[in-house]
Amino acid sequence: MNRSQAKAGLVATGVLATLVIGCGQDTSSIRRFDWGFALSASSPDTNVVRPLSLPASISESFEYYTGGQGGGAGESIDAPTDIFASVQRGPVTVNLLAFTDTVPEDAEELVAQVADVIQASVALVAPEEGLFVEVDYHVMPDGKAYSLARHVSWEPGHPLVLAIFSHLGRVNPGTPVHELYHLLASLWSVGTKDPEAEARMVQAGVFEEAAAHLFTSCGTLGGLGLLDRGRRGRPTVIFVDERFEVPLDRAERARILELATPVSSSVVGDLFNQTLLQHVLGDLQVIDAGSDPGMRLLELCRAVLRDPDQVRNWFNEQME
Ligand SMILES: [Zn+2]
Repeated sequence: MNRSQAKAGLVATGVLATLVIGCGQDTSSIRRFDWGFALSASSPDTNVVRPLSLPASISESFEYYTGGQGGGAGESIDAPTDIFASVQRGPVTVNLLAFTDTVPEDAEELVAQVADVIQASVALVAPEEGLFVEVDYHVMPDGKAYSLARHVSWEPGHPLVLAIFSHLGRVNPGTPVHELYHLLASLWSVGTKDPEAEARMVQAGVFEEAAAHLFTSCGTLGGLGLLDRGRRGRPTVIFVDERFEVPLDRAERARILELATPVSSSVVGDLFNQTLLQHVLGDLQVIDAGSDPGMRLLELCRAVLRDPDQVRNWFNEQME
């Protein structure tokens, strides 16, 4: 089914009243888009939320681009428009759009996981804002290039819309919730979207990335009941010819912030998140949401994720 058929069906049944709100929003179709960074055949999938205007408060409208790009052979291809799996969990709707040969085997499980993780992460940091979220997860053919975006004019009461892209071989349920954090940072004017961040943009970028990675960790823990850190041993990274091992101590954090650039902020932010997880969870690799370490981590996320500056403050105050 395509989008309008899907929506017509849902509205006709009268069951999913929240989606009716979605029908009235000003959301453009997905178009080819130049994000302004070079696309090579080996570029990984990169998803982006780019605000065009920022609201002075959460009761004001704002505009943004949502989309991404990935490398491969040839010119950028168009996005798929057919929906192969769809799920609604409370205020969160997730659709999986694909071509007939790019439907993941576990498409139903994937959309359910994405919806559960997003619902848990929003409940953790914005339980009273009544936010709706709608994710279109586009699965692209491996080896094909794409560079695509949707222009969204958001208004209070409408869903926060995300267009996520991934090559079939790189499908990952964590990507939408990570991008949602950047969208929430725009809505709340925090992190790199704080007007006062201009003078320290690289630092603000690193801590917004650290917060987005932490948001994903806590959303996964809360939504799926289990977080597998997926690492064995302490991660070590060679960064601009210097070696860093998690957990980063105070001197290493200062040094890596000197070396960071806007392009590397996600990698550096991930090292900050891994450092924080190491501090809270020790060497535990698989964490149960109901365990003491699991509850400590969720509590910390609730306390600091509303503003990446609070994540930075946590490092300054809690970590040697
Ligand atoms: Zn990010």
